[in-house]
Amino acid sequence: MVIVMKFGGTSIGDGKKIRNVAKIITNKKKEDKDIIAVTSAMTQITNSLVNISKDALDVRDIDKINNFISEIREKHEEAIEDAIEKENIKNDVKKIIYNSIDELEKVLTGVAYLGELTPKSKDYILSFGERLSAPILSGAIRDLGHHSIYLTGGEAGIVTDENYGCARPIKLLVKERVLPPLKEGIIPVITGFIGGTENGNITTFGRGGSDYSAALVGAGIEANMVEIWTDVSGILTSDPRIVKNVKRIPKMSYIEAMELAYFGAKVLHPRTVEPLMEKNIPLRIKNTFEPESEGTLITNDREMTNNIIKAITSIRDVFLINIFGTGMVGVSGTAARIFSALGRADGNVILITQGSSETNISIVVYGGSQEAENCIRELKKEFKGSSLIKDISIDEKVCVVSAVGAGMKGSKGIAGKLFEAVAKSGANIRMIAQGSSEVNISFVIGEEELESCLQILHNTFIK
Ligand code: ADP
Ligand code: ASP
Ligand code: MG
Repeated sequence: MVIVMKFGGTSIGDGKKIRNVAKIITNKKKEDKDIIAVTSAMTQITNSLVNISKDALDVRDIDKINNFISEIREKHEEAIEDAIEKENIKNDVKKIIYNSIDELEKVLTGVAYLGELTPKSKDYILSFGERLSAPILSGAIRDLGHHSIYLTGGEAGIVTDENYGCARPIKLLVKERVLPPLKEGIIPVITGFIGGTENGNITTFGRGGSDYSAALVGAGIEANMVEIWTDVSGILTSDPRIVKNVKRIPKMSYIEAMELAYFGAKVLHPRTVEPLMEKNIPLRIKNTFEPESEGTLITNDREMTNNIIKAITSIRDVFLINIFGTGMVGVSGTAARIFSALGRADGNVILITQGSSETNISIVVYGGSQEAENCIRELKKEFKGSSLIKDISIDEKVCVVSAVGAGMKGSKGIAGKLFEAVAKSGANIRMIAQGSSEVNISFVIGEEELESCLQILHNTFIK
């Protein structure tokens, strides 16, 4: 039985926590299971790498880079001290960490001197978070008396395209690369978040992408189960940082989990479910700090519960584009032109609605001011001199709220009850969309209306 266990940044927040994770892994191994661990970077490390790479480019201050390097070295040294007891293993791991940090220093200095940060070099810099944490976790596992090696995503056989920052897998050679050590009783620790191109360049899957790495490893090796270990006891009925009285959802279908992740539940990277659903591999979300809790089990089973709506999610970093023009009526191809313009602006569209009068199209796109500016520029360029479009406006102070649950399918009156509750919260709905899967209803409201709207919806639907 092969189990892939992925641990997030907070689970390995310091050396003691890394040792705790190593114990969770080795305890599972003792149950006679083959374990593959996938790890994130230590908490906040990826954020700090994003910031320092930006500073290296903009400020070009070598002292700042030196300070950052000292801090990151100290943090990982401390982690090694607390995670590992045996001196020889400690020294082994330190050597690896020092080499990587020297390399990171050179790359950052290079960025500062050249004044250039390409998507490729940015991925390379961001990859250091996981490339520093994986050897420490692997060392802690060895310290507990088990064989372990660490591998980068590329070394573990996740081969991607060259779409830096949001790479797509083109080939999975995980079986060839990971099965041999696994069969020898070794516990491989694989860096999450990163893959490798055919030429051996490092790519990343986007922020939060370690969950996706675990799914790719699980699908590649045809694991019996993938477990995502995090800092909450499974998928909850809403974001616990915004809503009070949230509850654990014991079971969900793949489709529900996919919609939930796509519409903002940070606990799962949106692409995680797909590779597992294809191979029917169950996914469990577990709490590192409460390992006895069952967490959430995600399978093919579309079990109905008393709650028609299982969860309420939200996305904040979006903007709404409203396109208006009577010239759009009956003119074919306008929508195609709108979407190709947004494509050129790299706009990541999440919701679309068109009024039946065809005079108005509303589109929700991921991102902030910079992305909004790019979209407007391309749309204006596309329709310059054309009478089809009269007005294009953008509203950045909005968010998307989604109600998710397979029970909504075919159940009458849900939308009515939902919008009644939204009205009660005082929020003004600017756009509504329901996916054809009928597993979710999404709508757009003002940013300042989010908290009270989520709480009222949660109180109304989650029993
Ligand atoms: P990790 O570092 O383990 O990958 P993340 O911070 O990426 O963890 O995801 C876990 C966090 O997601 C939780 O701490 C919680 O605050 C947040 N979250 C948002 N929505 C949900 C939800 N519906 N269920 C569970 N957690 C959620
Ligand atoms: N370390 C990466 C990030 O912070 C990936 C992850 O944690 O999933 O985005
Ligand atoms: Mg995460």
